[in-house]
Order: sequence, then C-alpha cells, then structure tokens
Amino acid sequence: MTDQNRPDSPLGGLTINFGTATETPPGGVSISAADPAAATPLAGSPVTEATGGAPTETKVLIIGSGPAGLTAAIYAARANLEPVVIAGSAPGGQLMLTSEIENYPGFPEGIEGPDLMNRFREQAERFGTRFFDRDVDRVDLSDRPFHVWAQVMEFVGQSVILATGASALWLNLESEQRRRGRGVSACATCDGFFFRDREIAVVGGGDSAMEEANYLTKFASKVHLLHRRDGFRASKIMIDRAYDNPKIEVHTNTEVAEVLGDDKVEGLRLRDARSGEERTIPMEGLFIAIGHRPNTEVFRDWLPTDEKGYLVPHHHTASRIHGVFIAGDVADHRYRQAVTAAGDGARAAIDAERWLEAEGIAEHATQTAW
Ligand code: NAP
Repeated sequence: MTDQNRPDSPLGGLTINFGTATETPPGGVSISAADPAAATPLAGSPVTEATGGAPTETKVLIIGSGPAGLTAAIYAARANLEPVVIAGSAPGGQLMLTSEIENYPGFPEGIEGPDLMNRFREQAERFGTRFFDRDVDRVDLSDRPFHVWAQVMEFVGQSVILATGASALWLNLESEQRRRGRGVSACATCDGFFFRDREIAVVGGGDSAMEEANYLTKFASKVHLLHRRDGFRASKIMIDRAYDNPKIEVHTNTEVAEVLGDDKVEGLRLRDARSGEERTIPMEGLFIAIGHRPNTEVFRDWLPTDEKGYLVPHHHTASRIHGVFIAGDVADHRYRQAVTAAGDGARAAIDAERWLEAEGIAEHATQTAW
C-alpha cells in the first residue's frame, strides 16, 4: 500500500526536507510502502505531541533507502532484528534516476536503476523489513532509544543506521531536468558507456568535471568541457590532464542556457558568461559535474561532518554516538558507487547487530544469519 501522505518526489532520491526543488523521477517508479496504520508499536511506547499516536519501535531504524539503507535492511532483517526503514518520499535514492546500470555485479546483461532498487526492496521485505515512505524532519540522538520524526510519525530505534546518501547538484534548467536519464546524466561512471563515439559535454570546473571529462574520452568521440568562469577549482594536475587530452575541448566563461532536442539531447544553447552572447552547438549528451550535496542537514546538530558536510564515521561504520551507525554516500564522496554503498550497508548492519548484542538488546540471534 502506498503511503498516502507522500509529497512530491524530490530531486535525486531521498530527501529529508532540505527545501530543494521537487520533481518526480523519470520513469515514475512506484514501490509499495508499508501502511503506517499497520505498524505495530511496542507496548509501553511513549505518545508524543509530534505524532499524536504511538511511535513505531524497532531494534534497528534505518534512514534512507538507496543501496546502503536497503542492504542494511536485508542484513538486519535476516538477523531477526525486524528493521524499520524510513525510505523518504522518493524511495530508492539516486539509482531511481539512472537508466541502465552495467557495473553492478550479478547482472551481466545490465539492469535499470529502478528495477535494481525494487529488487533490493523486495529482498528486504521478504525478510520482514517494514517501510515508511516519508521524509525525516527531525532526529533526537541525545539518548537511547533514539527518536526520529518523519511527517508526523514518530519512530523509536534502539540503534539507528544513517544512510541518507548524497544528491547530485544540477543546473536546474527545465530543459535539463526533463532529459535526466535521457541523455543528461550526473554520473560518468554509470552512463559514459552509452555515449560511445558520440560528441558530449561536461559542465563544471572542479576535480569531478576534469575527472569525468577525462573518463568520458574513453567512449566519446569528443568531450566539450564547459565552465562558467575562466578560473578553475580543480587541482592543477587535473586541469593539465584535461587540456592535454586531444579529445577534450575546454570552453571557459561558458554557461548552458538550454538543452535542445525532443526525446534525446541534440544540442546545447550556450551563453558567453561575459558578453551574454549565445550560440548553439550540436551535442548528444550532457554530464553535469558541479558537485554533490550530502543529505546530512538533520544530523548536523548531533554528529560531526567534514568541511563538505559529509558525516564522519568514528570507528568502522560506528559514529561517535553509541548505537548510531553510518553507511553509504552520506559519508563517502570518494567512491559513490551503488556497490560500495551496498557494502557499507552490510557493514553497518553487522556492526549494529554486534552492538545490540553487546548491549543485551538483541540476543545472539544472528551469527549464523549472515
Ligand atoms: P567542486 O570542487 O565544488 O566544483 C564544482 C564546480 O562546479 C565549480 O567549478 C563550480 O563553479 C561549478 N558549479 C557549481 N555550481 C554551478 C552551476 N550552477 N552552474 C555551473 N557551474 C557550477 O565540486 P567537485 O568537482 O565535485 O569536487 C568536490 C570535491 O571532491 C573537491 O574537494 C574535489 O577536489 C574532490 N574530488 C577529487 C577528485 C580527485 O582527486 N580525483 C575527483 C573528484 C572530486 P565555480 O568554480 O565557478 O564555483
């Protein structure tokens, strides 16, 4: 049953009310969500003003439903910990906005991003995970059990796994958003392969843009690197590498004004940032590499973040707060792959289970379950 309270789907998967633009992911995949009314609160739960009803309690509360959160759910559920996932109003994370994925092991023919995430979710549900497709508004990690509020529902977790991921930044042009997954991408590793012998563009002036432009020359016939200023944020070595690559043409002081084409990308209308002069060039793909924003806003009062806003694990997946664990892109701006996030989710669930056992909250239920 679908959660009737879900708002418009946000940009880039799970959001926790960060005030970002909202949209429905292309492909509009709907995944069934558990009915809040069907949740079984444990006896003696405190009733709070925020919910007006009994909180939903669990030994393992997972926030986030990308590969990290869902893998944590599979592991925790198989360990008989009956996890609850607060999945966000656009469940599934960034892969819901990706077309074909060819680098996730086990799918030699490739798999659509939403299809992969549906399978993760089915697998977690099969072992008893309960899902709530809601955005988290507030957390209280001051004391155990931990409290989390998501659109008027309260959740109480003996342990919490934070797996809210990161969202790619976009130019936020209407013509760009409309073609996401149809020639416009924010992930060269995921989608570069589909642009073999095509002429494409990368937007950005940081290390990501340099790296993606270089990477994409493995496939594309030519890569146009478009940067809005004439100075770069990227490191010198990365800039030199881009300029030295004969397949890359660098355009500084260049902004994208519009992505052209009907069903697919056919060109770009570019604007000179100094003169405002516009020109149109043919193009078959556009990669946006202007950075990511970790979805950590609601945790920042409780846990340390690095200078870019990513959570910083304390020891393996454990945070500084006993019982709070961290998994996936919410703490990783280096790898950002579905498979690495999934691996992190497994690690966090194992760490949470061992911690619960050490605290006497979970019985040794699980050593054989992995
Ligand atoms: P970044 O360093 O923040 O650079 C973002 C770039 O995008 C900037 O050049 C910025 O332009 C541009 N930009 C931002 N918003 C824009 C917009 N609306 N329209 C057009 N351009 C826009 O982000 P990043 O490149 O993703 O790097 C993030 C961090 O990861 C950095 O610390 C980087 O060193 C690191 N990283 C390292 C490697 C590596 O070492 N191999 C690879 C990737 C990333 P302005 O400069 O004009 O603001």
